[in-house]
Amino acid sequence: MKAVVYEAPRSFEIKTVDTPRPGPHEVLLRVLMAGVCGTDLHLHDGEFGPTYPLIPGHEFVGEIEEVGSAVSGLSPGQRVVVDNTRQCGECVNCRRRRANFCLNLVAQGVNAPGGFAEYICAPAGRCFVVDDLPVEVAVLTEPTACVVHGLDRLNPAPGSEIAVFGAGPTGLLLAQFLAASGGTRVTVAAPTAFKLKLAAAWGADVTVELDRSRPERNAELLRAASPDGFDMVVDATGATAVLDQAIELIRDGGTVVTYGMAPEAATWTISPYEVFRRELTIVGSFAQCYSFDRALLALRTGRIKTDGMITHRFTLDEYADALTAVAESSCLKAVIVP
Ligand SMILES: [Zn+2]
Ligand SMILES: [Zn+2]
Repeated sequence: MKAVVYEAPRSFEIKTVDTPRPGPHEVLLRVLMAGVCGTDLHLHDGEFGPTYPLIPGHEFVGEIEEVGSAVSGLSPGQRVVVDNTRQCGECVNCRRRRANFCLNLVAQGVNAPGGFAEYICAPAGRCFVVDDLPVEVAVLTEPTACVVHGLDRLNPAPGSEIAVFGAGPTGLLLAQFLAASGGTRVTVAAPTAFKLKLAAAWGADVTVELDRSRPERNAELLRAASPDGFDMVVDATGATAVLDQAIELIRDGGTVVTYGMAPEAATWTISPYEVFRRELTIVGSFAQCYSFDRALLALRTGRIKTDGMITHRFTLDEYADALTAVAESSCLKAVIVP
């Protein structure tokens, strides 16, 4: 089969490799579509703990081609999405039900074969049947599951005023979920007009178009959006400059959320006095954890909208172009269609 294979950071090839064979508890999937996201850019640079050789791709939808000998309840022809993670169940973190910190975490597309390939094997117990969902919607399950986990972490009180920085797929999904879960006035701030339009169409109460060359004006617009300060500011960009600004924008007792993935070497300076005096809370949210089923519910009911989210489609051979696109502002969501 054809696959994107990394041998080292920044060094990948589109290669022919052996098609995997499903183990007794696995299914073999023909990949229908796989989402490319910012994490794949970090993986490209060797960040986020990749093991080589690596086939990336952690957001995939496939059609079952074959089921392992011990698999029941799934059959060839069904369309599924896959929770790409597997935990050991035995380490200190698993024993505390912190499955996303499993010390022996296996994450397909990060340290195990992922979905930028024609075929992939996945544990049957990690598959969710999505015959009722269009592929274009189902492919967004994993990022939506990450957002649901974020909501588990934040648990915003009803009546909260929340700002989300970033209007990429994650920012747009977060803004919608926050508006459905306690966020009573949700502001989305980002530099790209067409993404803000989507944010507004999907329920953001306020949108602020940021102009990178005019930080003073941005700060003014954001302060005007919530003169008393936001209860929560969520950074869905991974940019330290946003986090610096977030501290100024939250009200006393407020919460700053680092949701976007910053470069591993980035640092963020916070005044401990300010955290103490203003009782600030800083919350991180990493990946997803027991949230696939709830993400699917939100996509099925249409509570979370995704029409028009996918702006770019590429073949496996065009993987380099897909990575370039993901870094550009004209791209909202890029997918690989093997
Ligand atoms: Zn992702
Ligand atoms: Zn574990």
